[in-house]
Amino acid sequence: MALAALMANAEDGVLTLRGRIEASAHQSYVEVPFQVPPGTGRITVEFDYTGREQRTRIDLGLIDPAGLRGWSGGNKRLFTVASDDATPSYRGGPLPPGQWKLLLGVPNIRAGQVSDYTARIHLAPAAAPEALPDALQTNLADRPGWYRGDLHLHSGHSDASCASQSGTRVPCPLFLTLQAAAARGLDFVAVTEHNTLSHLQDLRALQPYFDRLLLVPGVEITTFQGHANVFGIQGALDFRVGGTTDWSRLLRETQRRALPVSVNHPALPSDERCMGCGWQPREGTDWSRVAAVEAINGADAGTPVSGIPFWQARLDEGYRLTAIGGSDNHDAALRTTQFGKSRIGSPTTVVFARSLSQDALLDGIRSGRVYIDVEGSGAVMEMTAAQGGRSVRMGAGLAVPAGGEVGLELRVEGVVDARVEWIVDGRVEQTADLPVSGKAPAWAWRSDGHRHWLRADVRSPDGRLLLVGNPVYVNFPAPAGAR
Ligand SMILES: [Zn+2]
Ligand SMILES: [Zn+2]
Repeated sequence: MALAALMANAEDGVLTLRGRIEASAHQSYVEVPFQVPPGTGRITVEFDYTGREQRTRIDLGLIDPAGLRGWSGGNKRLFTVASDDATPSYRGGPLPPGQWKLLLGVPNIRAGQVSDYTARIHLAPAAAPEALPDALQTNLADRPGWYRGDLHLHSGHSDASCASQSGTRVPCPLFLTLQAAAARGLDFVAVTEHNTLSHLQDLRALQPYFDRLLLVPGVEITTFQGHANVFGIQGALDFRVGGTTDWSRLLRETQRRALPVSVNHPALPSDERCMGCGWQPREGTDWSRVAAVEAINGADAGTPVSGIPFWQARLDEGYRLTAIGGSDNHDAALRTTQFGKSRIGSPTTVVFARSLSQDALLDGIRSGRVYIDVEGSGAVMEMTAAQGGRSVRMGAGLAVPAGGEVGLELRVEGVVDARVEWIVDGRVEQTADLPVSGKAPAWAWRSDGHRHWLRADVRSPDGRLLLVGNPVYVNFPAPAGAR
């Protein structure tokens, strides 16, 4: 037995296994058992060992109660397996409780050498599938800033198609979708397939390659009573509204799991033109459990099915909901093909986040410091509202007594001949021309002490909507912790 010592201790769902490989283990296999309790939904292994400078090599694999689960040899020191995804080299799927084993292969250890290894094994409960250990979190830029992305994309994991090598229509590989998003210069995408999580495995495999494009796992819960994107999801959600669940149950579940929900293309029809596309839950909607509304879907800005009036009506009702956009792209081709037209990045949603990581991005969406670049042109907007020495940005609240004056300022870049519209409670109250990039003329708005929301849009000279700003909330109740 090459294993001189084996220590296991569990704290906060982390088992630490330590052991020693001796020279007698040269070119043999060592099994290191550990117990997986019932209800485990993800196993993540971090592995390291000493003696590399003496050319010791330890390879790694995993054995579940039914047999070999995967083998990564010497190519990975970190891997994860869960019901819906796994690091390449390993297989996703159910995690049966019982005795599992790390399989250590020892291709080389010199005579007289020893190697001490440490395996940290994170066991996460299936009931909290989004609880990923830090080691699995991707952070592509550790600085606060505006990050640009597309929050609504499909691939061949649902109904996106593109041209095959020979020009026939085939389910489109996710890689092509992500490549198109990267070519567009985006910082992040949410991949939101219809009612399936089969893309999580691909996202796990592709994130290391896309080291400038944050891949956020999403799902478009697609029902007969409306569609909604759920961002950051890592485990199944029952989508069978009208069958085994309803929207109020779904929204309670997403809230329990702290998953932000965006209601998609709410103003689409919900009849034979597009079954279930409009937002029509039978029992109504508890909007306090919703984070965002897809105010712009693809090219729908300015059309009768634009989501903007629907979104603004919810603001009028007193809900703080972030307007976001999504291309809803179904064809990864970079240009129009006989099967469709790629719209990846049109619109682009621009989010102020403390870093380019999933948690920061989703917090940024919840915070409402977000604008929509309708045509994905790269234009920039920043709004501030100041009152009594206090200045806030889009998404924030401001208490203003009757008679109090709010100074509104807007900076716009990347747009020439812009027209700024100041919008109060859905009505355009003031416009200003902005011939070149820079600060729009400030506007002072006087409060009557009641609840209002103030925001700005930017249009082209011919009236095309270019930028959609989120509101500053005046005299709104504090946002629910739910968001
Ligand atoms: Zn949809
Ligand atoms: Zn969609």
